[in-house]
Amino acid sequence: MSRPGVSRRLEGVGMTSPRTRARMVERLRAAGIRDRRVLAAMESVPRHVFVDEALAHRAYEDTALPIGAGQFISRPSVVARMIELLVHGREAGRVLEVGTGCGYQAAVLAQLGAEVYSIERVRVLAERARANLRPLRLANLRLVHGDGAEGLAAAAPFDSILVAAAVFEVPQPLLAQLRPGGRLIAPRADGRAAAQRLVLIERGRREFVETVLDPVHFVPLRAGKR
Ligand code: SAH
Repeated sequence: MSRPGVSRRLEGVGMTSPRTRARMVERLRAAGIRDRRVLAAMESVPRHVFVDEALAHRAYEDTALPIGAGQFISRPSVVARMIELLVHGREAGRVLEVGTGCGYQAAVLAQLGAEVYSIERVRVLAERARANLRPLRLANLRLVHGDGAEGLAAAAPFDSILVAAAVFEVPQPLLAQLRPGGRLIAPRADGRAAAQRLVLIERGRREFVETVLDPVHFVPLRAGKR
C-alpha cells in the first residue's frame, strides 16, 4: 500500500520543499562552506523531518530549534562547518558522533558515505532519532543509547569523532578511541567565561595537535544515561 502522507512529509512542500533546502545550501556556500560533498549532503537530507511539525516551516533557517528534553538541533551552518573540518582533504571514514539529539547531523554524515555510530544519553531522544531516521533508510548508520563520554569501545578505533555537546576537556576515552591520523572536533567551553569554541584535535604518531576555531554555543555534555 502506498502511504502518501509519509512520502509527502519526507519530500516536503512550501517552506519544507527541496527548493527551500537548496536556498539554505546557497546561504551555506555564501557563508564559506566550500566542500561539495558536504553541500550535497546538506542538500539531500530533509532537516524538517527532524523537528516537530509545528516548527517544520522554520527548519531551513540558520537557527537552532528545540527538539525536546531541553535539547536543540544544531544550526545548519554549524553542522556543515563541523563536518567540513572532519572531511577536509580526506574521507570521514568510521565516525563516532556523541550526542545524536534528533539525528540530523548523523544523517548528514551517513549521507556523505561515512560509517556512522551515533550515541545519545537521553533515551526518549534516542528513540525519537530512530523514528526520524527510519524513512531515510541509511544503512551505514548505527544509533546507540549510552554515555558518549565513554566513547564506543566496541566500534573503536574511529577515523573521526564529532562531539555535539560542550565539554571543558575532551573525555580521555574519546582521545583513546581516535585512530592515529584521526580527527576529533568538539565545542569546548572556557572554564571562566561561558564562551565556547570549536576545537579540532588531530592525532599524530606521538601527540595530539590542537587547533582552536570558531566561537559556538552548545548544550553541555552530561555524564551517565537516562
Ligand atoms: N547532533 C544533534 C545536536 C545534538 S544536541 C543535531 O544533529 O542537531 C546535543 C545532544 O547531546 C543532546 O541530545 C544531549 O542529550 C546529548 N548528550 C549530552 N551529553 C551526552 C553524553 N554524555 N552522551 C551522549 N549524548 C549526550
